[in-house]
Amino acid sequence: MSAATKTVSLFDRLPPIRGAYRVNYPLSRITWFKVGGVADVLIRPADADDLAAFLMACPPDIPLTILGVGSNILVRDGGIRGVVVRLGRGFSDIVVEGTRIDAGAGALDINIARLAAESSLAGLEFLSGIPGTIGGAVRMNAGAYGGDLGSVLDSVTILDRTGQVATLTAADLDFAYRQSRLPPQALVISCALSSSPGEPKEIRNRMAEIRQAREATQPVRTRTGGSTFRNPGGPNGDAPRAWELIDAAGCRGLTRGGAMVSPLHCNFLENVGQATATDLEALGEEVRQRVADHSGILLQWEIERLGDPVRGAV
Ligand SMILES: Cc1cc2nc3c(=O)[nH]c(=O)nc-3n(C[C@H](O)[C@H](O)[C@H](O)COP(=O)(O)OP(=O)(O)OC[C@H]3O[C@@H](n4cnc5c(N)ncnc54)[C@H](O)[C@@H]3O)c2cc1C
Repeated sequence: MSAATKTVSLFDRLPPIRGAYRVNYPLSRITWFKVGGVADVLIRPADADDLAAFLMACPPDIPLTILGVGSNILVRDGGIRGVVVRLGRGFSDIVVEGTRIDAGAGALDINIARLAAESSLAGLEFLSGIPGTIGGAVRMNAGAYGGDLGSVLDSVTILDRTGQVATLTAADLDFAYRQSRLPPQALVISCALSSSPGEPKEIRNRMAEIRQAREATQPVRTRTGGSTFRNPGGPNGDAPRAWELIDAAGCRGLTRGGAMVSPLHCNFLENVGQATATDLEALGEEVRQRVADHSGILLQWEIERLGDPVRGAV
């Protein structure tokens, strides 16, 4: 049976949704690196009820992957088997109630930070420096410039693989450096964040500082995936940071195919031409090896690598 025929039969097994279906959808269109193969099927549910109904009726053997805006992932060239869920407009509402902010999981972190600022609420400025959705931020415990999700999250609402809804508190998620204990198959559909009353001018100044710092130190206008490797000592501590180890190992500016270690911030990889996911992953592995040879420290990937190296077995 050809891959195309298998995809058709997969599609035939899926329940209808009110939102949109796409078959053989090129994920390079929606990932920051602009690389990666196709999703067998990509769905954009209309809203949380649509997604819950889909999950209840979706056969349990069909693999399911949820994506935000793809700013922390490397989708391999063979693509992702089964169904990829992308949260669209029906998941992007942001509502302020006192010092609490309720956001759909597809809301962009920057939009939450902006609305908080407009509402004179402080504590969420760091979100303006993270180019993802709040759902992705919960999964990765995204953080920047002294703040992270774990310190501002009250609760998340999730759907499990069978479409059952549940609410988890920040304590349930046991946040640590760039990780949470969100159950592996859980789909975040919304979250509640806490903030505190603040001085609008100070909040705006803090966001401007973050923007300037990012533009000066990160290749934010390139096709990248953010920090490639975790800092071995966590967010703080005395251990050398990943970029320092990479620099000391002579990897700044290293290239492979269309992939390059960013000359501006050497813990970022960039797609500078027609890079494939294979180029980017192989370059990352070369960096790990060179750093291990030079310092004895084996870096761990922070970017999540998803999917198959080669299109084939479905
Ligand atoms: C230029 C640049 C700068 C960056 N700077 C920072 C930074 O300072 N700090 C930082 O922490 N990160 C940074 N990142 C990484 C990235 O932006 C964050 O990790 C972000 O939170 C990822 O969100 P996303 O929507 O893009 O998720 P994706 O990359 O699409 O997905 C990431 C993970 O989250 C899961 N996921 C996504 N949505 C959901 C959901 N609704 N429910 C359950 N799981 C979900 C995915 O399955 C995947 O496992 C940077 C990235 C870039 C490109």
